[in-house]
Amino acid sequence: MKVFKFGGASVKDAGGIKNVYDVLQKVGHDDVLLVISAMGKTTNALEVVVKDYFDKSAGLQSSVQEVKKYHNQILMDLFEEENHAVFAAVNKIFTDMEQFLRQNKSPNYNFVYDQVVSYGEIISTTIVSHYFNYRGLKNQWIDVRELVKTDNTYRDAVVNWELTQKNISKNVKKKNLNITQGFLGSDENNFTTTLGREGSDYTAAIFAYCLNAESVTIWKDVPGVLNADPRYFDNAILLHQISYREAIELAFYGATVIHPKTLQPLQRKEIPLYVKSFLNPLLPGTCVSKGADLEPQTPCFIVKKNQLLVSLSSLDFSFIMEENISEIFALLHKYRMKVHLIQNSAISFSVCADDKFGNFHALKALLSKKFKVTYNENVSLYTIRHFNDKSAGTVTKNKEVLVRQVSRETMQIVTRDLQ
Ligand code: ASP
Ligand code: MG
Repeated sequence: MKVFKFGGASVKDAGGIKNVYDVLQKVGHDDVLLVISAMGKTTNALEVVVKDYFDKSAGLQSSVQEVKKYHNQILMDLFEEENHAVFAAVNKIFTDMEQFLRQNKSPNYNFVYDQVVSYGEIISTTIVSHYFNYRGLKNQWIDVRELVKTDNTYRDAVVNWELTQKNISKNVKKKNLNITQGFLGSDENNFTTTLGREGSDYTAAIFAYCLNAESVTIWKDVPGVLNADPRYFDNAILLHQISYREAIELAFYGATVIHPKTLQPLQRKEIPLYVKSFLNPLLPGTCVSKGADLEPQTPCFIVKKNQLLVSLSSLDFSFIMEENISEIFALLHKYRMKVHLIQNSAISFSVCADDKFGNFHALKALLSKKFKVTYNENVSLYTIRHFNDKSAGTVTKNKEVLVRQVSRETMQIVTRDLQ
């Protein structure tokens, strides 16, 4: 079996969905499992719904309406008959969502978030499945929540591999074209969970692992894994072959093309991962597989914008030692800051981190009781793998360098824009 993942950008409108159909015609669709994300920016739009719901905002109705309108337009563009069953099916999903919002009593933001945001994937897969049937491409729609079991860490759920393996082996039929949702799972009580933003790649890896798949292909709007994000760098180069190790490093430092959790399960079973263009499906793209000699010699540039640089120093000039550091890390972990760089000197300790869940101000209040806390918001973290003499210069132009750290293969630079 092959696992294909199509992300939001590939199904952002009717043309995109028709293109997915065309891709399958070209590359084959027997014994394939499709993992599909919410359409376009639907996840962001549903995040607004959740926020409006908790803010008791008068805008709630219209933010729900916007999501409906967007999908209805796609339906009208895809299906000629107005009474095609898909209209009722999608309508029913929206009704369920609205009913949840009316009846919910839970004050737990992350719980509500997962129950609501998950509708994006349920709707997208319903539409794609109906559309393929409409075009004569028979397929099996699978509710991923019945297969991928997780704990109840809403918005960042941890997979229960044992249960998931059992469910997938038992329920996914080989030889078919199967369609399921990325990003979602369910907890012990069958409440919906999500695996973290952009988690659909990870879903593809979970299925590939459990099915001993032949390969995973992530279909993107770029030709493959590039050595730099073309949104921020000119002259990005396609990397034809990279090792799991290199891909894990790139993803860890923030290359957004592959979700970081995706690679480990694939590497464990040596399942190759292809990253290919859904616009040119027959081009080879990038192959991520085993083999140390696949490391690219080209410098790879990764940027993370909107980071925090936090420096802690002791109030009394005492050293910052292991016990302080372990306490600091316990707090960083508790407040779910994603740390990307660490630097310390005798009396100060700095981290560059992502405040993914908006917890920094609460954390700062706690840290301030023990340390002098200084920080810069909105800094950029550049990571250059396989850097050369010229590499640093390309990222520090017109910027102030706040931290620079160099190891054998990797250079990291924290910058802020010059005023
Ligand atoms: N729809 C989810 C998101 O936008 C998951 C994904 O696209 O991978 O984060
Ligand atoms: Mg997406």
